[in-house]
Amino acid sequence: MLVFPYRVGVFHVNERTIVSAAILDGKAIAQEIRSEVAQQAAEFASAHGRKPCLATVLVGEDPASQVYIRMKHKACEKEGLDSRHHMLPDGATEEQLLEQIAELNADDAVNGILVQLPVPDQINEKKVLDAIDPLKDVDAFHPENVGRIVQGRPRFLPCTPYGIQQMLHRKGIEVSGKHVVVIGRSEIVGKPMAMMLMQRGSELGRESANGTVTVCHSRTADLPGVCRQADILIAAIGVAKFVTADMVKPGAAVIDVGINRTDDGLVGDVDFDAVKEVAGHITPVPGGVGPLTIAMLLHNTLIAARLQAS
Ligand code: NAD
Repeated sequence: MLVFPYRVGVFHVNERTIVSAAILDGKAIAQEIRSEVAQQAAEFASAHGRKPCLATVLVGEDPASQVYIRMKHKACEKEGLDSRHHMLPDGATEEQLLEQIAELNADDAVNGILVQLPVPDQINEKKVLDAIDPLKDVDAFHPENVGRIVQGRPRFLPCTPYGIQQMLHRKGIEVSGKHVVVIGRSEIVGKPMAMMLMQRGSELGRESANGTVTVCHSRTADLPGVCRQADILIAAIGVAKFVTADMVKPGAAVIDVGINRTDDGLVGDVDFDAVKEVAGHITPVPGGVGPLTIAMLLHNTLIAARLQAS
């Protein structure tokens, strides 16, 4: 326990007691979700005579993408889902990838389709995502599914923001009425995260939505000042240790999405050691948001299987 006069920007906060933040253990929460999925997948299998099935497609041999794909298949196997992997060479054309997707769209044994991003430069990513059957779009990147999220009637929720919402919910961190600041406006994390947390409701209840959301990006003026207003600060930038202690309101929940490979190993977008002395809750990297992303992929594959069976 540290006691010191905490200085926030130009404001002095009187002497206060700072207790190191509670660590949000993403691995444990992910395991809880995966156990639920495993049980429901077994029920699906006994009702329908087949397991929910995820198909992944990887173009090229990017080592990080290969690791992610392996982790996803291992998770499927462990929790009783089927999975298949399709590899295309680095030089594959857009047409070849679209043909592969069309084949998977037409295959009744495949419930979820995931194209590992990024795809090589010769392939138009948007065209590829548009080609996936929206009922098999377990990443929730198809414009129809994105539109449904915007309108507050989601079919699927994108795995990383969904995992964060689950984590906040399961740890009793209310979003309703809170100021949520999301740093980063990507299609994969920042934008859908902001959209989900500002909705009137969510499947997890009203308390897990109804936030007052601000989105920051590379052109935001006084970004540290905006971050200091956050009750919940979500960093999805891709810059190692970008969020420093002076950017965090004492007691805030800090969610670190970043995965940055540095000489010191994997680090997040948050300067963990310093920020944990200020925040109320914080996610580690690794072991924070990452495991939840995979858990929600399994969940979405189960949802897809149910949708297609109904
Ligand atoms: P992205 O590169 O698509 O988007 C990054 C965003 O950060 C952009 O919107 C950009 O405006 C913003 N940004 C960049 N530099 C900035 C700056 N200096 N100030 C303010 N904003 C800035 O990235 P992404 O796909 O959203 O991923 C972000 C990070 O999260 C990456 O490290 C990625 O590896 C990681 N990630 C982790 C998971 C997981 O499961 N843990 C999932 C997806 C992404």
